[in-house]
Amino acid sequence: MTHKIWLSSPHMGGTEQKFVNEAFDTNWVAPLGPNVNGLESDIESYIGENKKVTALSSGTSAIHLALIMSNVIAGDEVLCQSFTFSASANPILYQGATPVFIDSEFDTWNMCPLALEEAIIDRIKLGKKPKAIIVVHLYGMPAQMDKIADIANKYNIKVIEDAAEALGSTINGRACGTFGDFGIFSFNGNKIITTSGGGALVCNTFEAKQKAAFYATQSRDDAAHYEHSYIGYNYRMSNICAGIGRGQMEVLNQRVKQRRGNYDFYFNNLDKNKFTFLNEPASYFANRWLSTVLVSESNNFNREDVRLALEKENIEARPLWKPMHLQPIFEKYPYYGNKVSETLFDIGLCLPSGSNLTKKDLNRVLKVINSI
Ligand SMILES: *Cc1c(COP(=O)(O)O)cnc(C)c1O
Repeated sequence: MTHKIWLSSPHMGGTEQKFVNEAFDTNWVAPLGPNVNGLESDIESYIGENKKVTALSSGTSAIHLALIMSNVIAGDEVLCQSFTFSASANPILYQGATPVFIDSEFDTWNMCPLALEEAIIDRIKLGKKPKAIIVVHLYGMPAQMDKIADIANKYNIKVIEDAAEALGSTINGRACGTFGDFGIFSFNGNKIITTSGGGALVCNTFEAKQKAAFYATQSRDDAAHYEHSYIGYNYRMSNICAGIGRGQMEVLNQRVKQRRGNYDFYFNNLDKNKFTFLNEPASYFANRWLSTVLVSESNNFNREDVRLALEKENIEARPLWKPMHLQPIFEKYPYYGNKVSETLFDIGLCLPSGSNLTKKDLNRVLKVINSI
């Protein structure tokens, strides 16, 4: 049988092991060290805007710390994009807070500003002003940050930008992850670059960065013995993982180019009467972490037919994220919107998108799809 084509698999650049070996040679085999500091400054230079970055054990832990640092506590409400991976919303429950889900719009597939404002007005009317907004740049397509920031400012609500899938994406040249009060990145194995597992929190000040590192290392007060005045977490990134990250940062721009190349291939070769694509709005630049298509409902085949045909040929494809307001764990929470995300979930498909796919791999995918 021909080799498996994965949706998105790790793609090493070549220098990762050098940084990992350095960690071994100097015995920095710990959740701190030169690679952790080095990766943080690499990300800071890459995203610019004078932001400060704390390297963490995952994107999920970064979202959790962003909520804590936005003073979200038990009983609070947090507005969260419904169309996303569950990791965007789970940390709201870790805090004992209540998620309020917001639908998407068709231009970016991300948080709908109209539904967002409708929700804020309604929650305030009910006596519960939301504490924070979690907006996601899904599949690397930037959300409508200008409109969302305007609404957040108008009602004075903190914005947490889940850029787990959007490292390398920009709006008007400004990096996703730098628009909110906090931003987060993920370096899980399937993301555009990986540390095997890891994440980062983007902060506005050096003090906030230090505070995040404090919480992430069990909130140890300044004392010779172990003294604790705050709840602590074990969320810091390993210096070994950070070494992988430093190597990956050297090839990030190449990875963005390769992922965008996959998208262009599908866009140029698939039948536009059968498949629709999400174009970049003007001044938006998407890293195209995953290439996605909508399978037109007028076809004599549907999304599942495409997915199963690919699966039969040892090719991994996935439906788009199932909206959170439809998930058993989240369905009891409030939701605002017009079922845009439900439509996307019903007809959308993620195609193989790894930066390590060859032209031959892509042609193999195309041949299977065209044969349906
Ligand atoms: C991957 C991902 C996360 C979580 O990141 P981890 O590093 O896996 O914890 C959060 N949000 C979105 C949108 C993601 O895709």
